[in-house]
Amino acid sequence: MDALQIVTRKIEPIMEVQTRVIDYMTRYMVGRGFKWLLPVMLSSITDPLWPDPAAREALKPLEVEVYGERLRLTHSMILHKQMAVAMGIDKLFILSPNIRLEGRSADDGRHTYEFTQFDFEIAGASMADVIKLIEDLISGLFKEARSWGLERRIPRVRPPFRRFTLEEIKEEFGSEEEASRLMKEPFWITDIEREFYDREDPEKPGHFRNYDLYLPGGYGEVSSGGEREWEYKVIVRKMRKAGISLEAFRPYLEVAKAGLLRPSAGAGIGVERLVRYMVGAEHIAEVQPFPRIPGTPAVI
Ligand code: ATP
Ligand code: ASP
Ligand code: MG
Repeated sequence: MDALQIVTRKIEPIMEVQTRVIDYMTRYMVGRGFKWLLPVMLSSITDPLWPDPAAREALKPLEVEVYGERLRLTHSMILHKQMAVAMGIDKLFILSPNIRLEGRSADDGRHTYEFTQFDFEIAGASMADVIKLIEDLISGLFKEARSWGLERRIPRVRPPFRRFTLEEIKEEFGSEEEASRLMKEPFWITDIEREFYDREDPEKPGHFRNYDLYLPGGYGEVSSGGEREWEYKVIVRKMRKAGISLEAFRPYLEVAKAGLLRPSAGAGIGVERLVRYMVGAEHIAEVQPFPRIPGTPAVI
């Protein structure tokens, strides 16, 4: 797409839907006492995105030099969410811009290299609390959206959504993508071994208290979250196992070592992925006024 093609696309109706989606989600959180934080885009630390079995390639954060130090562009604000909880902000959310240089092979209709997460965290919460919060949010949003006069029929969905472990999904469907293609309603995939900050079940070592929400119709993953590790010793052990440099996460580890991290749970919802589903777009770039397609440098 050249600049003229980008500017002459019919995107205004999609932005109307996006506005309503963001309005619904932010009202939902503010109404439940969440504090609305502003995003961090440059930091000495960001989400390593590793080791996540879904990561096609080990994504490396982009770095820029700032006053003689190398800072990273935000992959996700997960570590900042944990530190905001450490500051005593018990319930928080952020519309957080994320930059992830996905490989060219990630151009599958749901990946873009610059997107926004509706990211939240709750002190002392459990997996069950967050799952319930997201189920209520999504079912309420879908219900409201059925009165928006959308061309596409948004299904009536009733919590609780079905839950599968990743192992069950692989057995029953072969892959997460195939499950999303065949399922008629949103569903959860739990117990995924991935980044160090997602909590390993203390009663079932080798199992994880995390959860991803998938949309039906092949739209795939729309949200990821988990209970968090907060104990320094556990975090260091998991970082070492993943081959992550402790030095690269020094400020985070300093806070953890001082015993200031607190138990919490949270999740992030991909805004563009949710809007893509609501309008039934083939490709996520169709809902971006300024497309950011993996492998294709932005024109504008
Ligand atoms: P995927 O497996 O689809 O690549 P992920 O598991 O790597 O996604 P997370 O790290 O869990 O993604 O990010 C949290 C949420 O942010 C995802 O559930 C998704 O909604 C959104 N997201 C992640 N990567 C992208 C991307 N490249 N483009 C658009 N949205 C994304
Ligand atoms: N937002 C996600 C979470 O809260 C982290 C991520 O982006 O991978 O777990
Ligand atoms: Mg994920």
